Amino acid sequence: MRSDIRICASWRDRHDRPVYTLTDTCPECGGSAVNSAPAPYDPTDRYGEYRRALKRRARE
Ligand SMILES: [Zn+2]
Repeated sequence: MRSDIRICASWRDRHDRPVYTLTDTCPECGGSAVNSAPAPYDPTDRYGEYRRALKRRARE
């Protein structure tokens, strides 16, 4: 089932936590909001951890 809930695309830069909305724009910063289904910014940030690990390894 598809969800109409969207999430501020830049919440990590602009907010302390994910900002959800039903419109195309973030109600708090006015930035673009994206569909939350693909979860480009997973709150658990598993891939972020993975990316950081890769970066650390590349620097060594
Ligand atoms: Zn926002």
